[in-house]
This record gives sequence, C-alpha cells and structure tokens, in this order.
Amino acid sequence: MAITWEYDKATRRGALSGTLDGDDDLGLVFADLSGDVVVDIHGITRITSAGARSWTAAMRCIEGNATLVLERCSVAVVCHLAINPLFRGSAVIRSVEVPHRCPSCDGAEDVEMVLPVPLPIPSVRTCGFCGAQTAPDVDETSYFEGLTSSQEASRTRDQTAGAP
Ligand SMILES: [Zn+2]
Repeated sequence: MAITWEYDKATRRGALSGTLDGDDDLGLVFADLSGDVVVDIHGITRITSAGARSWTAAMRCIEGNATLVLERCSVAVVCHLAINPLFRGSAVIRSVEVPHRCPSCDGAEDVEMVLPVPLPIPSVRTCGFCGAQTAPDVDETSYFEGLTSSQEASRTRDQTAGAP
C-alpha cells in the first residue's frame, strides 16, 4: 500500500495520505462509503499518472453512492485538479493548502484556505517559525485556476441540466 486510509464511521471523516501511484485500488478503499464523507487529503504528497487514473475511476465508482468533500487538498492534488478536468469527479472541494514562504527565515508552511479564495489573497500571515509576515509562495492566478474552472464547469453543467 502506497497510501494510508483512515476512516472514522462515527464522524464520517476520513484521511488519505501517501503516494497515489495506481498500486492501490481506491474503488475498494471507498467502496463502503455512502452519503457525504469529508476526506482530509493534505497528506497526499505525490500523484503519478496511473494514480490519477485510479483516482478518477474510483470517483466514477462511488458517484451516486457517496460524495467526497475534500479538505486541505495538497499541492499535488491542486496541480492535478488544474491539469485534469476529470480528476475532481463528483467531489466537492472545501479547502486547499496554500504554500507560504517566510521572506525573513525562509520557513515554509502550508496554510489551509476555504474556497472560494478571494484573489489576490488578502490575508497577511505570521510565520510560525520567526513571527515575521509571510506571503503565499504560489502564482495565485494559476494555482486557483483549476479549482475555479472546475467550479464553473459544474455550475454550467447544472444549468444545462436544468434548462428546458
Ligand atoms: Zn519566518
């Protein structure tokens, strides 16, 4: 297993971490889920193309049974959301991790941000290492592009479906 899956039935919350490389059958991992399930995926550090295929296949499998509400999408996940429109599937993206870097001590931290994130990112954060002010270490426009366009795509789809 390249991934670790932890699930708490009582709170309907899961956490997925590790490398998505296609060795794991995510369809089996998610098979018992139903309804809305919150999944923390900040621990997914790497996704190969085989892993992305396995993920999108699993999204198709659970469609209609369960909806994953993805929290703290890691940089690896955000990148795949940007390049692969199928990656999101029926999942709802609640929040993403945004890398920050401190100009003073060079400390790197990921900061959770709930969507939609207003651009430019208005918040000024305090470095957890030295207390100086840190800034997002991403191209804000391209980092959030995949998230925005997938939100728009789903809205357009809903409107089309609802049209007479
Ligand atoms: Zn610092």
